Amino acid sequence: MNVANLTIDSLQDGLKRKDFSAVELTRSVLEFAERENPKTNAYVLLCPERALRAAEKIDERLAAGHDIGLLGGVPIGVKDVILTSGVRTTCSSKILANYVPPYDATAVERIEAAGGIIIGKTNCDEFAMGSSNENSAFGPVRNPVDLDRVPGGSSGGSAAVVAQGTAVVSLGSDTGGSVRQPASFCGIVGVTPTYGRVSRYGLVAYASSLDHVAPFARNVRDSATVLEVMAGRDPLDSTCADAPVPRYAAHLTRDVRGMKLGLPVEYMKHATGETATLITKAIKDLEALGCHVEEVSLPSTDYAIACYYIISCAEASSNLARFDGVRYTTRSAKSENLSAMYQNTRGEGFGAEVKRRIMLGTYVLSHGYYDAYYVKAQKVRAMIARDFTRAFEKVDALVAPVSPFPAFKLGEKLSDPLEMYLSDIYTITGSLAGIPCMSVPCGNTADGLPVGLQILCNHFDEPNMFRLADAFESR
Ligand code: GLN
Repeated sequence: MNVANLTIDSLQDGLKRKDFSAVELTRSVLEFAERENPKTNAYVLLCPERALRAAEKIDERLAAGHDIGLLGGVPIGVKDVILTSGVRTTCSSKILANYVPPYDATAVERIEAAGGIIIGKTNCDEFAMGSSNENSAFGPVRNPVDLDRVPGGSSGGSAAVVAQGTAVVSLGSDTGGSVRQPASFCGIVGVTPTYGRVSRYGLVAYASSLDHVAPFARNVRDSATVLEVMAGRDPLDSTCADAPVPRYAAHLTRDVRGMKLGLPVEYMKHATGETATLITKAIKDLEALGCHVEEVSLPSTDYAIACYYIISCAEASSNLARFDGVRYTTRSAKSENLSAMYQNTRGEGFGAEVKRRIMLGTYVLSHGYYDAYYVKAQKVRAMIARDFTRAFEKVDALVAPVSPFPAFKLGEKLSDPLEMYLSDIYTITGSLAGIPCMSVPCGNTADGLPVGLQILCNHFDEPNMFRLADAFESR
């Protein structure tokens, strides 16, 4: 069964009306995924046993007249950087090709406790490093909208399963745009919550001060529901905020009259033709809904890419030191001594992009360069955050493009890493500031390629972000 037309609400109505049981639905989603997945390579692994076990529980609860939970019966894809107990988790890397975690990430535990059904693990850029999902040890993912194009990255698999109809919602991770950008490229909704809103426990670390577990869905309401289920304090992650979790759905009033929106002038500079046209049209639509739009300036934007790649690579070089052939799986077979074992294991296990970042990160942290690069980047990060603080003194939300261009062809940007890094220009600023931001579809190019509108709000102001996105979506 193609679940492309189902939302959480319509699916749960179907269960309650007995149009299908949770087991029937799960079986047919698994069969559909088995058949369709080779086209996109979006799942790296299906987990039918775990899925069917969870579905049986939902059917039992339905039969007994019990509540099935906010995500009861909902087929979910989980990015393969998020740990699933007993189910292989590879980070799309050779170095973890056989790694089976002994515990679940907090986000996974919470979505299952809310009745969610994990269908499988989704492909991604290796250790979430990339913007096109072409850096996977298991091959690239193709965009279901146009199979010759990339789905975006790094959570390309999680975006593709929702767009393809092999899951209803999915979990990705966003460090610098890895959920918003693929959501934009695949024509779905992607949400990066406030830093610390969702526990990172069990998310394999890329850049800890920037990493988020983040949802994809086909509409705003579903994305809000998944976030609500995952959010909230977790004693297992000390950076996870102890702030109450609102009922996001209660804020979807469709009334945004009088809301003040800012359009960052620096962002429209790089947007290419059709993207700029669609964003301009979206702004008009928001005005028609009663919002006031004014231009704002985020003057430090030009430094964001350099700042992000210094900080994220520095943190990655430290985080990835743990993959040494001793503590985790794959170890090189042919080493004569300890240091050769480390070198060979890491040399054989990591792909080119991961190695590039480990080297860059080690360099910017090394004695003599630390002040010139790492410390300076931290100062720039503070300036970027201050730009947003100032903007939010004047406006309730910012609206912007997600990416300068729509989905590009496979291979098109692979030979030029700097060109690839440019894909992230509008998404990394929000990540560096730790604010909530999301992508909501705003139309298609003449070639039928989706373009997303980005909405950014102040820390913990997800309720207003969802309210605006939902009103825009229903325009
Ligand atoms: N494309 C960015 C990078 O490669 C963002 C990745 C992410 O958000 N995980 O770092």
